[in-house]
Amino acid sequence: MKNDYGKRLERAYKAVQNAEYILIGAGAGLSASAGLSYSGERFEKQFADFIKKYGVEDMYSATFYPYKTQEELWAYWARHIAANRWDVPALPLYKELLKLIQDRDYFVITTNVDAQFEKAGFSMERFFAIQGDYGFFQCAKGCHSKLYRNEAAVREMIENAVDLKIPSSLVPKCPICGGDMSVHVRKDEYFVENEVWRQNHTRYSDYIKKVLDKKLVLLELGVGYNTPGIIRFPFEQITYQNVDATLVRFNRDYPNGAKENIRRTVAFTEDIAPAIRTLLRCEGGHHYGTGKTS
Ligand SMILES: [Zn+2]
Repeated sequence: MKNDYGKRLERAYKAVQNAEYILIGAGAGLSASAGLSYSGERFEKQFADFIKKYGVEDMYSATFYPYKTQEELWAYWARHIAANRWDVPALPLYKELLKLIQDRDYFVITTNVDAQFEKAGFSMERFFAIQGDYGFFQCAKGCHSKLYRNEAAVREMIENAVDLKIPSSLVPKCPICGGDMSVHVRKDEYFVENEVWRQNHTRYSDYIKKVLDKKLVLLELGVGYNTPGIIRFPFEQITYQNVDATLVRFNRDYPNGAKENIRRTVAFTEDIAPAIRTLLRCEGGHHYGTGKTS
């Protein structure tokens, strides 16, 4: 599979060109390829003091660390939210992806919570962030469904943190029940599914029904195996049910899916960013740049 990269890009390009509908399913791998890596230099630079104190190994596992107090927990989360949500502009890869598909009837479902699709200018009427958004707080027990934009609170926590603790006065409390708040990211049964979430869920379901027998490309980008029931398995099923569908999958570790779909799948273990860039260059009429010319 490795040495036919150019051929697979060509297949992917033709599928995208011929598609009436483009369904994007995006996971952590897309943001990592865009530059928002949760480990390595980015983590080591921005979180050196947390690494020293807690021995945490990356930003993902650091969110699960059993911090003893709310003051310590929020000191970590504030910096994590700022680093991945408020301090990051729209990344080029997301903007390029939009350029590639913006003239089509598209829809995005993502497990990412970093708001990159929104920042890059994707239509929020064609977008379902099923797992939440770092940019909001909610009641930790979900006692009411209001979400609270957290940029100002997060910045205040960062400015006032001492010894990796925020002042007790800055620990966010639920205005209704008085209990703890949490980040609006699905981690337990208290995740708030508010009106916007439910509306987007309905739009996604409607879109899936609409494209059932249409010329469809499913772009599955960096979806890992943490929650395969959200994007990966449904995408396999949609592909299986639609003879005119093509599944274009970028997955470094698990490129192979259902064998029934093999002929309708183009799988890549290669990095997403350079591949999308090459597909965009094709749009401009240039060659594939990987051996074969168009
Ligand atoms: Zn509450």
